[in-house]
Amino acid sequence: MRPGIVTFERVRFAQWTGGRGTFIDRKDARTAAIPKGNEEAVIYAYVVDHPRFGRVMIDSGVSADLGERLNGLMRRAVSDLEIRIERTTAQWLAGQTPPRAVFLTHLHFDHVGGLLDLPATTPVYVGQGEVQERSRVNLLLGHPADAALQGYGPLREWQFQPDPDGRFAGVLDIFGDGSVWAISVPGHSAGSTAYLINAVDGPKLVLGDAVSTRLGWEQQMPQPVANDARDDAEASAERLRRFAADHPAVNVFLGHQSRTGQAEAL
Ligand SMILES: [Zn+2]
Repeated sequence: MRPGIVTFERVRFAQWTGGRGTFIDRKDARTAAIPKGNEEAVIYAYVVDHPRFGRVMIDSGVSADLGERLNGLMRRAVSDLEIRIERTTAQWLAGQTPPRAVFLTHLHFDHVGGLLDLPATTPVYVGQGEVQERSRVNLLLGHPADAALQGYGPLREWQFQPDPDGRFAGVLDIFGDGSVWAISVPGHSAGSTAYLINAVDGPKLVLGDAVSTRLGWEQQMPQPVANDARDDAEASAERLRRFAADHPAVNVFLGHQSRTGQAEAL
């Protein structure tokens, strides 16, 4: 790998406590040995500064205004999570350079919820297939992601290319210089996207919810997804684990937790 030219920072926005069944598939026999209990989940976003293209944000943090935009059902679901906001995206932005674009890992509310605090002209990118799936999920769940995206321009979808290494479902060298890659990791959602950042202090791999917890990463526990997405979710998680094992210098960032031994940024 060439030496990195971009900087990378993880930012914490909020925390919630959720039953383990939210994160691991209790219908799968492999999870039987994991005791009942809760997991602490953190909402993170990441900031990448590129010397030529400027600042981009991966995922979006949280906005205090999101609650008002949700329908009754979603508002109740979200308040059940008892999200403890440590800082909103608006608070974090004060005194910061605003991002020129947002790269999302996927369109779930805990990843898009901070968009409200960013200018509506900010271009927003997601993985191929994510927008179409969102319309399907919306029929059931209401429009949590739409609430955050309302008033924003059309979502732009990464046009993944075949992976030259044959590892992943698709990859994209976003800036054409090898500094930031979008990686197709479908399963958690149809267009789930991981990002590989070749940063000045070493390569970073942002998984999104392709693998969101230590149970998923370190103990290979399957996550609860719809039946028709299970194979994809497991294949994506396994490809990511293998990539990390083959490249031990890569620092891995799980969707909602820090890895064992990984320093927790403030
Ligand atoms: Zn998610």
